[in-house]
Amino acid sequence: VWNNCLAFIKDNIQPQAFKTWFEPIKPVKLSENALSIQVPSKFFYEWLEEHYVKLLKVALTKELGETAKLVYIIRMENTYGNREPFTEKIPSANRGNMGPQEMDVPIKSKNPELRNPFVIPGIRNIKIESQLNPNYNFDNFLEGDSNRLARSAGMAVANKPGGTSFNPLLVFGGVGLGKTHLAHAIGVEIKDKYPDRTVLYISAEKFTQQYIESVKKNTRNDFIHFYQLIDVLIIDDVQFLSGKSGTQDVFFHIFNHLHQNGKQVILTSDKAPVDMQDIEQRLLSRFKWGLSAELQSPDYETRISILKNKLYRDGVEMPEDIIDYVAKHIKTNIRELEGAIISLIAQSSFNKKEVTLELAQQVVEKFVKNTKREVSIDYIQKVVSDYFEMDVATLQSKTRKRHIVQARQLAMFFAKKFTKASLASIGSQIGKRDHATVLHACKTVDNLAETDKQFRKYIEDLTKKLS
Ligand code: ADP
Ligand code: MG
Repeated sequence: VWNNCLAFIKDNIQPQAFKTWFEPIKPVKLSENALSIQVPSKFFYEWLEEHYVKLLKVALTKELGETAKLVYIIRMENTYGNREPFTEKIPSANRGNMGPQEMDVPIKSKNPELRNPFVIPGIRNIKIESQLNPNYNFDNFLEGDSNRLARSAGMAVANKPGGTSFNPLLVFGGVGLGKTHLAHAIGVEIKDKYPDRTVLYISAEKFTQQYIESVKKNTRNDFIHFYQLIDVLIIDDVQFLSGKSGTQDVFFHIFNHLHQNGKQVILTSDKAPVDMQDIEQRLLSRFKWGLSAELQSPDYETRISILKNKLYRDGVEMPEDIIDYVAKHIKTNIRELEGAIISLIAQSSFNKKEVTLELAQQVVEKFVKNTKREVSIDYIQKVVSDYFEMDVATLQSKTRKRHIVQARQLAMFFAKKFTKASLASIGSQIGKRDHATVLHACKTVDNLAETDKQFRKYIEDLTKKLS
């Protein structure tokens, strides 16, 4: 049950937050519809309740039904020097009151990302959920030189959707620079100003999945009609469409229809149109009709204000020199900037001490390293085969010998973990396997890691070598 909850949660929050707040949780007991989870500290529990209670509820209700209950068990170090942990049970959403208690579970989350992925309804009687995340708005999208153009173009579009020459508005920039945030913010603002307009946010990936599904089910026309009903269409990460000619084709038709009818289209991409690959020329030329605005890496002042704003919103204080240190050292990615500060908050609370410069250095170093050194799949195969004293050709070979299969599965597992490559591309690079084989390998490794001590040792050793 807990693993399923985790999988759902992971899809709905930033990886760093997941690592910090969910990986340390241990499921302890499941009796009927009550799940007990153990958390490392009281602070940890409070943080979960404050920031993630909705998410937890949704995840748990999916698994256990409407009557789901959650019980927190807080693990504490005994203050008398006894290292035996003792526990304190706190019922969810009811601090101070002892004994397990039912959660109030009106699962109508405000955060639409937490609702079930929507299904394309029949044409009659349509009420389209916008899928916007209200937490991503203009108020908390801080302005700086690096985003001024994109931000103000976004504002202009939000004030007059379809009524500016910024149609489409294409926001592009590297990872973690705020494309998704800004895309939502525009939608949220439009919904606020024009509640009757139909706004839809969707990732290009989901759009593609829906399209493929519709072809399978013979409902391609419904798919097209559905999208033609939308007043403001926001598609995130359009680079995902590259190479997918069927989806590009259908998007081209939808785009033309919307554009001709004065509807607004907002797109984001990790590249400028000129640099996009495997996107049809006619689509690229449409992208260039409106405005392409770049989100650049934030300058120092912007980084400082983003950090301070984050701390302020979370009600956490942090010494100036620490903030300054983080801002000086993490320069190219706002997600990492936030990740580092979350990590610092967490660490200081676990150890119950002020954040020192030394701690900040450790955390920052971890973040900078993680991103600078992207290991390649070739390198992973080399390290793994060296470790098991075989050559790369053996690792890739078709043999079913157990130790070779294991080595191969480990290589796949680490490729998934340490690179951004897709399952299919990992498979093709490690002995021409398909994506299902890679998926199976990752699952097998996960399972063995839990049950097999020797295997766990392999993973630990290899992780050290690779990171
Ligand atoms: P991208 O989609 O470009 O990869 P995101 O929109 O997911 O990036 O942004 C990464 C994180 O950085 C998010 O948590 C987002 O809220 C935050 N962020 C990005 N830009 C800003 C900004 N200008 N002000 C405040 N937070 C920002
Ligand atoms: Mg994004």
